[in-house]
Amino acid sequence: MSQILLAKPVIKAEINKLKLKCQEYLDNGITPFLKVLLVGDHPASLIYTRNKKKFCEKIGAQCEILTLDSRTSEEDFMEVVEGLNADKSVHGFLIQLPLPKQLSHIDTTNLVNAYKDVDGFHSDNISKLYRGSTRENLLAPCTPKGIMTLLDFYNIEVEGKSAVVIGRSLIVGKPMALMLTNRNATVTLAHSKTKNLESLCQNADIIITACGSPKMFTQNYFKNDQSQVVIDVGISRQEDGSLSGDCDFENIKDSVKAITPVPGGVGPMTIFTVAQNLLHALDNYPED
Ligand code: NDP
Repeated sequence: MSQILLAKPVIKAEINKLKLKCQEYLDNGITPFLKVLLVGDHPASLIYTRNKKKFCEKIGAQCEILTLDSRTSEEDFMEVVEGLNADKSVHGFLIQLPLPKQLSHIDTTNLVNAYKDVDGFHSDNISKLYRGSTRENLLAPCTPKGIMTLLDFYNIEVEGKSAVVIGRSLIVGKPMALMLTNRNATVTLAHSKTKNLESLCQNADIIITACGSPKMFTQNYFKNDQSQVVIDVGISRQEDGSLSGDCDFENIKDSVKAITPVPGGVGPMTIFTVAQNLLHALDNYPED
């Protein structure tokens, strides 16, 4: 029987740790506080920001979504960012992407102070990952960090395994490859120019699909002997309004060892990790 790697049991088991840690801060008179900066009303961003707020509040933290008008100028945007960096009551802060057209040229990588960077995008934080850190409280990108939490929960061994990550974005694919490497997997990072993707996948123990191509990964990409673990990061909205991952879930679910569904797999782990990173940000928060 294949195993369906749902996020729900992971979060159910792990949320108490976050609640307890949050309570410790509350007992010391500190309310962990996340600010989410949203510019405009991009429909998916509205959902993501609301989910982040909801989850932070569930663990006892505070989260405020600061919404700016979609026509906000660069000058005004930068002023708000500087204000949030300077505000000592704000422990974590993230800029919800994408930004509207007039701001889309801005490189947001290092805009949020490294110690408030719950998204884990700042080059100081990425550099720690690059140098091999496996510290749990590293402010690392939420989707790959959440996937590592999920793999650990389901006791999926990473060390010594061969992994293929498909997609080389800065927020998912590349940090995912680094995290797996740091945990002693042997990793191939694939992308749209990769040749022989099918055979690369067929020969891997762990396959992580993060390319945003709905249902691309059919049985052709797998060994079909119930030995492989598949983590599907992709989320695409289909014509009928439903969500699809990069994997053809129904087609492959019985022929792999374990697989994450979409929705209900990686997505909630990303939200969980935002809240986890908020508490990790507080652990490392500089004293006056
Ligand atoms: P990007 O568009 O930034 O990157 C996509 C990557 O996939 C690129 O490296 C691209 O290659 C590669 N790629 C695209 N098509 C193919 C193909 N046919 N074969 C091989 N490689 C391909 O996407 P993101 O990393 O931001 O997101 C990827 C997917 O994950 C999306 O569906 C997104 O919605 C989802 N996502 C889900 C999250 C969650 O919480 N579940 C969080 C973040 C993203 P190249 O570099 O050569 O162009």
